[in-house]
Amino acid sequence: MRRVSIFGATGSIGQSTIDLIARAPQDYDVVALTGGQNIAQLAADAVRLGAQVAVTADENRLDDLRAALGQSGVKAAAGRAALLEAAAMPADWVMSAIVGAAGLAPGLIALQGGATLALANKESLVTAGPLLMATARASGARILPVDSEHSAIFQALVGEEISAVERIIITASGGAFRDWPMEKLAHATPAEAATHPNWDMGQRITIDSASMFNKALEVIETKEYFDIRAEQIEVLVHPQSMVHALVGFNDGALMAHLGAPDMRHAIGYALHYPQRRDLPVERLDLAALGTLEFRAPDEARYPALRLAREVMAAGGLSGAVFNAAKERALDGFIAGRIGFLQMADVVEAALAQMSSDGCHIDAEITLDNVHKTDQIARETADKIMARMG
Ligand code: NDP
Repeated sequence: MRRVSIFGATGSIGQSTIDLIARAPQDYDVVALTGGQNIAQLAADAVRLGAQVAVTADENRLDDLRAALGQSGVKAAAGRAALLEAAAMPADWVMSAIVGAAGLAPGLIALQGGATLALANKESLVTAGPLLMATARASGARILPVDSEHSAIFQALVGEEISAVERIIITASGGAFRDWPMEKLAHATPAEAATHPNWDMGQRITIDSASMFNKALEVIETKEYFDIRAEQIEVLVHPQSMVHALVGFNDGALMAHLGAPDMRHAIGYALHYPQRRDLPVERLDLAALGTLEFRAPDEARYPALRLAREVMAAGGLSGAVFNAAKERALDGFIAGRIGFLQMADVVEAALAQMSSDGCHIDAEITLDNVHKTDQIARETADKIMARMG
């Protein structure tokens, strides 16, 4: 039996992971499931899977969680410290699917304990890529990418030398506003942005897809995980979301990974690696599909992609600034405080201000420094938004 823990179990990725694990409960010993506000789901899954502990990140919800777990025998815990304690519980495989920078510390702790980390939380690599990779190397633990593009790249690289890679192309659906005229974008609402043409995902990543901030994070994630140069990474708009990524080699060959837009592909690959097992996902009918389209992204329409390149050039803790300012700008957009296009303005201004203030962007990438920089970047973004309002 493999000991598994799922961080962010109540979210979109967490639920897809549980869907796969619940199909073969005899194969898994569930250690910890964690969530935030969705106590009913967390408790129901923890009881159903016989988890050792269920943890809510909100310390004020401990009594609710205890009540929902009833006499099941599943231990209840709450708060940040409890989340980190759960990450330290021995496990063979840990899904990192908390949304945002809050996912970094539990993933690091799981790696320190030697668990294989299935990494959906792209913010970990964006804010602290070198730290995460060095932690895995030091403990001999493996990180398996779960973002569909990175899982696709990983799969295209099996048996290949990274030195033979000329370029990596990640695809983007273009999100909810792919075909909207630019002038309409300024007035786009959070509800409109939270509707994805192909993927069914959490609200925040869906809005990030519409603004291409999600793709910007993924470009940085690609550089950090595969350790290639920023200039080797390209983005292509591909409306059908069937080709997830392509790897170009020095002999001109281009290896593409295709699959239906269902995260259980990438989660299942990471769960069963290095084997392939049957997965309950749609099989593509290419003849029925007929056409696959690709086009270059319009960087004027998607300033997030330009900002990602600036962050990769600046290096250091600028990824932590980028992510934190983006998270606050997204909060501001969801709350109706700023417009859709202003999210990129906030992030750009926060990056400019923090690099001119000399806010330790060059400091060593430690968990402490990432947290401090994250905090300052959030405050900076808030002040910028207040001036806009
Ligand atoms: P969701 O918003 O659906 O779920 C987020 C999870 O994190 C929930 O369990 C939520 O709890 C929990 N959570 C929220 N805030 C905190 C916090 N401060 N501390 C601890 N836990 C918290 O997100 P997704 O599943 O869509 O995404 C998860 C991660 O995976 C993100 O990093 C995303 O970028 C990445 N990803 C997602 C994909 C997708 O298809 N959804 C694809 C590729 C990557 P609760 O809901 O109970 O409040």
